[in-house]
Amino acid sequence: MSVLVVGSTALDSIKTPYSENPRLLGGSASHAAVAASFFAPVKLIGIVGDDFPKQYLRLYRRHGIDLEGLQVVPGKTFHWAGEYEVNMNNRRTLTTELGVFETFTPKLANAHQDTPFVLLANIAPALQHHVLDQMRKPRFVVADTMDLWLNIALPDLLKLLKRVDALVLNDSEARQLTKEDNLMVAARKIHKLGPKFVIIKKGEHGAILSSPEGFFVSPAFPLDKVVDPTGAGDSFVGGLIGYLASTKGKIEANLRRAMIHGSVVASFCCEGFGLKNTTKVTRQAINERVKALERIARF
Ligand code: AMP
Repeated sequence: MSVLVVGSTALDSIKTPYSENPRLLGGSASHAAVAASFFAPVKLIGIVGDDFPKQYLRLYRRHGIDLEGLQVVPGKTFHWAGEYEVNMNNRRTLTTELGVFETFTPKLANAHQDTPFVLLANIAPALQHHVLDQMRKPRFVVADTMDLWLNIALPDLLKLLKRVDALVLNDSEARQLTKEDNLMVAARKIHKLGPKFVIIKKGEHGAILSSPEGFFVSPAFPLDKVVDPTGAGDSFVGGLIGYLASTKGKIEANLRRAMIHGSVVASFCCEGFGLKNTTKVTRQAINERVKALERIARF
């Protein structure tokens, strides 16, 4: 089954203590769509300006991503710039230029409205609502978010939580949303806001799933070297929903393996700038890391 992904389609300028990489292909939807494409057909909903390099469009196409919902309009592509410290858990946003995203109100094609799996990747909650309003009975809807929307669009986000099956957010966002330090208690509070499944990401320490069946803890794939963690969270959720869309049976029965696949795709993302490493990965390489994670986590 296929996955519809809406989110930011961006140019990212990323600075680490060792290197500077301007105008890479980035954005929450780009990372998530490429990650999901290893497992299922993907439809991308987004907008870019006429400065968006053609080679990036080719890259989406090489991953079989349906670009009918990607608008190319006059103006500037969303541009995000960030700088990492030596400890790459610490990142500072230098610039966020919305560009053509400022006026983005996507109208979904008829064929897109029946997509069974929907990923509302990180973008303004109002836009996530706008896309969800146009979907006809999706089977599974996952939303991602970030601290910015908790700060400036909380009412919209709270309304969204009543409409989604799963929420994915990182540990500091879960604490901010619930005003609760203990993540187990925070997850329970988030269930009360709407989502049946709550997934809390903890960066290099993996991710926790809270569901009616209880808790599951997915490790992160251990890496010797992290080059650039930008988009790891988006790759995680993209891999997760792509894997789910490729499986038969109940969502509940497949979610744990979906988290492991998400963690593995995220690990590849961290090994290169932007999407450089993710786009080189093969399904076989993913399967090998999944097996390695199984060995690591078994006891
Ligand atoms: P992550 O590393 O998972 O937090 O995701 C980083 C990606 O999020 C980058 O590729 C950015 O282009 C994108 N991004 C940063 N700020 C925003 C924003 N305000 N809205 C949507 N996407 C954003």
